Amino acid sequence: MTAQLAIFYTLALLIGTNTFGFVYSYLILNHNLFSKYRIQTKKYKSGILVQRLPLYLMNLLTLLILSGVGIYFCFPFFDTESYSLYVIVCQVLFAFIIDDIWFYFMHRIFHENNFLLRKVHSIHHRSSTPFPLEYLYVHPVEWMSGMVGAAFAFFLILLVMPINIYAFWIFGMLRNMHEIHIHSDLELPVISKIPFLSTTRHHDDHHAKLTGNYASTFAWMDSIFKTNFKQ
Ligand SMILES: [Zn+2]
Ligand SMILES: [Zn+2]
Repeated sequence: MTAQLAIFYTLALLIGTNTFGFVYSYLILNHNLFSKYRIQTKKYKSGILVQRLPLYLMNLLTLLILSGVGIYFCFPFFDTESYSLYVIVCQVLFAFIIDDIWFYFMHRIFHENNFLLRKVHSIHHRSSTPFPLEYLYVHPVEWMSGMVGAAFAFFLILLVMPINIYAFWIFGMLRNMHEIHIHSDLELPVISKIPFLSTTRHHDDHHAKLTGNYASTFAWMDSIFKTNFKQ
């Protein structure tokens, strides 16, 4: 596989998952298909998807550029030949754990530091009734800070072995889809019951109440540090 092909697949994957997020958001906002699964009862503001579009697109473009440039320069450190399930599962899990630890502390600091809360993180909290694409509605500084955990996880993997390109793609896709899911405001039958994964309600409560439930992928960091939102 060439670097150009790896970049092409990476960008196609990210554009694909975010197009899904856009269509999913459109359906939730404009049709009653999923309304019986909604957690909140508040109505959505009309035209909100279009109003939010500039920041969504800016953050998505940043993600595409950084991913493309990152793969271009780091391509020699990727293993594009191995399909070892063991290696792929281990790398994906490791990336999720490190990324989640980073996200928890970063997110908590964004709440506990008044300046960061007012100037940066408050943008994401304009969304008190989230819908899938709202995961992209964040200040660009927060957006880029959020990528540090995953980048650090793959750097740590690199100290031991090459980064498996399939593990990188699977992590990116699942991370993206989980963010879309936890911002959906929907408690879907099967997806909301996957063991270990944090639920939509966990993050929805964070958006509704502003304190507690700082973790993203798993909820265990909130349990360890006793920051679970208290009903
Ligand atoms: Zn927050
Ligand atoms: Zn959120």
